[in-house]
Amino acid sequence: MGVRVAVVGGGIGGLVAAIELAVAGCEVTLLERQAALGGKLRVLGPGIDAGPTVFTMRWVFDEIFGRAGTSLDDRVVLRRANVLARHAWDDTAQLDLYADLQETADAIGRFAGAAEARGFLEFSARAKNIYETLEKPFLRAQLPTPISLATGAGFSGLPGLMRISPFETLSKALAKFFADPRLRQLFGRYATYCGSSPYLAPATLMLVAHVERDGVWLVKGGMYRLVAALGALAQEKGVSIRCGAEVSSIDIVRGRASGIVLVDGERIEADAVVVNADPASLPQKFFGDAVVRAVPDVKAQARSQSAITWTLQARTSGFPLSRHNVFFSRDYKAEFDDVFDRGRPPETPTVYVCAQDRDDEDAPPEGVDRLLCLINAPADGDRKNYSEAEIAGWSRKMWSRLQGCGLQVTPPDTQPTVTTPDNFEKLFRGTGGALYGQAVHGSMATFRRPGAATRIPGLYLAGGATHPGAGVPMAALSGRLAAARVIADGASTRR
Ligand SMILES: Cc1cc2nc3c(=O)[nH]c(=O)nc-3n(C[C@H](O)[C@H](O)[C@H](O)COP(=O)(O)OP(=O)(O)OC[C@H]3O[C@@H](n4cnc5c(N)ncnc54)[C@H](O)[C@@H]3O)c2cc1C
Repeated sequence: MGVRVAVVGGGIGGLVAAIELAVAGCEVTLLERQAALGGKLRVLGPGIDAGPTVFTMRWVFDEIFGRAGTSLDDRVVLRRANVLARHAWDDTAQLDLYADLQETADAIGRFAGAAEARGFLEFSARAKNIYETLEKPFLRAQLPTPISLATGAGFSGLPGLMRISPFETLSKALAKFFADPRLRQLFGRYATYCGSSPYLAPATLMLVAHVERDGVWLVKGGMYRLVAALGALAQEKGVSIRCGAEVSSIDIVRGRASGIVLVDGERIEADAVVVNADPASLPQKFFGDAVVRAVPDVKAQARSQSAITWTLQARTSGFPLSRHNVFFSRDYKAEFDDVFDRGRPPETPTVYVCAQDRDDEDAPPEGVDRLLCLINAPADGDRKNYSEAEIAGWSRKMWSRLQGCGLQVTPPDTQPTVTTPDNFEKLFRGTGGALYGQAVHGSMATFRRPGAATRIPGLYLAGGATHPGAGVPMAALSGRLAAARVIADGASTRR
């Protein structure tokens, strides 16, 4: 096509957009301000995954690599996890979810009784149904609206729309399937996969349960292998990748995006610009005055959650860690009230721990684990700096929750690396540290995410804060949608 495209950002959405555009014959330059590609998918210290760790919906990447004439399996080694996640409430109450539906139902039966096991099977069928209803008309489609969903896409009007449960909250819906509050908590946690509260998010998000059941994949060598594979593929397809290249503004000529300017003043002309930075950075002037109206500004109250994360190497004992582990607090509602109403990390946090050297049950080599520990936090990193004393306080609360579930972490030789919302804001500017774009709170929230096209011709968006939503596969889908939009617009311009 000969269309020149500048992609701003080398996160998952940017990389995928660049690959798809290059495969379609565009001349693509990808500019990434950090020294390495990957964005939120990053490593710290001795190869510790410090961003996403749960890899699902591999079909998205199977398709991307396939369309580029290769295969995902040729580029990364994946193994399906048998234990999806291990959950603990104290040092006796533990529950594993398995890839196998009946194995999970049996585990839930032993944990909470036969009625809960039946509830789980009903819940799983419902989650599958919602996912299958939405895959084509929502996940794969350019920005759908409630009307386009209700009138088209086989939804057959409002009754069809009701099938995806947009009008009740996840927490209310879960109460119909589970009497045990621990199970409501466990499945309500899926709202946090897009940085939201189960008490405010629509029940539609129960589809995440199906996504996990469809396959949680362990990436040999760590999640970053996926970024490395995408980066290599992009280069093979002719994408010019420049790391350490920060874009300071987007040029608009006669109302159309016509290129970018780097902080050192270099100008790169382009027929289209795809922004993989969070769209919130546009109205907040991180790309100059000309594009502030490209998308609506996101109010701070509408942001998804941020996090505090600890990455470290340590010896552990007292609790048999699996790859993915969740140590639940007793009062889940209070956690989200803390984050979204009181604007502080939870007083008693639920802690997610990824032990990346463990495949299901295997102990790590030489008994030392590489760990990522994570608690939810408000996206206030543009208004607040977390002091050393505050970080020490949240660290104590986090370790105390792990100890309460029997997990002892031997004080590490080196201090953990802690990332707080203000650190995330510096990495992903204009977000306050929100890691998943806008929170999915209320039935209309998913439709408020911007789509690939902006108000400015020639300027497009790709990434986890754009439709169809947050998470590695969703950001990848958004990259595909952005590329498709550029190609369609480029083709029509040529016609
Ligand atoms: C701690 C954590 C845990 C997570 N866990 C999971 C999980 O288990 N599973 C899952 O699927 N998802 C998870 N996620 C979410 C997932 O990581 C993101 O949704 C996804 O990686 C976002 O990709 P993106 O395309 O939006 O790009 P981003 O990762 O947001 O990257 C955007 C890129 O743009 C660059 N950029 C910004 N401004 C400029 C500029 N001016 N010039 C040049 N470059 C610029 C940035 O440096 C960055 O590299 C997690 C995220 C975090 C942070």
